Amino acid sequence: MYRYRCEQCRTTSPAAHSRHELNRHRSSHRDLFHGGHIPDGEHVIASQRTSLLDLPREQRIAAAVLVVALVVACLIRF
Ligand SMILES: [Zn+2]
Repeated sequence: MYRYRCEQCRTTSPAAHSRHELNRHRSSHRDLFHGGHIPDGEHVIASQRTSLLDLPREQRIAAAVLVVALVVACLIRF
């Protein structure tokens, strides 16, 4: 999970679940508040994921499908 921080404005973006989403927050902030320029002191805050529930929805679904497929594969073999 990532957050964009602008020290000039003393503000932090909402949490972004991917670098792509983070880039949207950053570009939007630069355009709206800095005329598209790069503000001094901006940075990205990356936080560690703490549980499966913090994963993006698509990845949770993919993990669930993988687990079901493994269980079914085990049941077919035995
Ligand atoms: Zn700013």
